[in-house]
Amino acid sequence: MGLMCKEMLGSDCIIQIEQYHDWWFDNAVEFLGYLLERLDVDVVWNGGISFEPLDEDKVERLIEEIERLVGFKLKYQTKEKKTDQIVETNRAYLPTMHKGKYVSFLALKLNEKQKNSEKAIEIRREIINEITGILSQENTNRKKVCNLCGNTANKLFQVSQTTYPVVTGSLKSQCGVRKMESDYQCCALCAFLGSIEWLDDMPFACDHANFTHYLLFPKIEELGELHTFKKELRELLTTKPYSNVISIFKSAQGEKREVYTKDEYSLLLSLLERMWDKIDQYESILCDRWIRLKIKGMEAKYQTKYSYLEDIHIPHIKRFKNIFEELLPYSDFVSHSFASPLKKGVSREIIQRLTKENQYLMSKGIIMDDFKTFSKAFQIRQNCRLSTPKDALNHLIYTWRCKDGTI
Ligand SMILES: [Zn+2]
Repeated sequence: MGLMCKEMLGSDCIIQIEQYHDWWFDNAVEFLGYLLERLDVDVVWNGGISFEPLDEDKVERLIEEIERLVGFKLKYQTKEKKTDQIVETNRAYLPTMHKGKYVSFLALKLNEKQKNSEKAIEIRREIINEITGILSQENTNRKKVCNLCGNTANKLFQVSQTTYPVVTGSLKSQCGVRKMESDYQCCALCAFLGSIEWLDDMPFACDHANFTHYLLFPKIEELGELHTFKKELRELLTTKPYSNVISIFKSAQGEKREVYTKDEYSLLLSLLERMWDKIDQYESILCDRWIRLKIKGMEAKYQTKYSYLEDIHIPHIKRFKNIFEELLPYSDFVSHSFASPLKKGVSREIIQRLTKENQYLMSKGIIMDDFKTFSKAFQIRQNCRLSTPKDALNHLIYTWRCKDGTI
């Protein structure tokens, strides 16, 4: 695990970063390989990534790209309610702002004036030196052991949520009733990889009504395969304020508009539909194992307290081909289903909450091939029933439950 420098027969050394066999860091190693390939570095994918040591120019371009992504991925434009002006906001799900820095020690948040100051240039140089050090393996005589990869290093960093999103908080007040403070230390490579993974292209959706964010990470053991899959995935994602997986909602009048999902299963279903729609070799790139990261709250302290992981294993993923040939369950059915009140006096909040809950139950049922969960959405609750497009429902039940002889 970690970084190794291999002497090649008489030639210069090769940098090798082995995979971690962990959802977060394997995706990060893949992401670094992807960034390097974009800088025309030859990357060999083999149980990790290997490449020739980077010269200063390449490191500088790598940092420029990371800085560009910090702005592009971690911020979005929105309309301020009070003034109606377009303002730039930080994407709330990312535990990024720490002591004025974005993504830990990588990039400093500076305004235009500060950017060209001597101090800024000096800090930038430090960052470049640091990363050159990480990616050239010049250090010897290392005495400290990294808690994450087990390699030795000269300098260690505290593992915060920026490095690994589900680590216990680094502040006592955030560590539950017993206030047991965790103190993990990691090497510069782990800190670097963990930080840049926040900039990776992952399907995400956020439900602003309850400040909850969902991120999906593909779980593919073989790194080369993961890379192939993510290359296709990157083509599909479109970054919009609340999600990067958009589906088109067609109303009965033929009017079209973009819709976002608000839970992890709808996000996954919508993503599979996009893949079906856009990728020719659909069946060769299916991924049936995903990690869902759920982060609640806007403030850093809430993100530390309420971060949850879930393993999603989609059963018989190939069955979706039969269904998608007939209809797209999310775009044609789930997104058109709403809770509708049976009596007067049901509040808007209840209708909205039940609509969301029902959409979640239906998407989860379809993804997990679980009819019981799916049917729960049809139960009358709080004086509301589920209103769905009937034709689409018949179609879905037929292709999902009857066509292949399930019932
Ligand atoms: Zn390490």
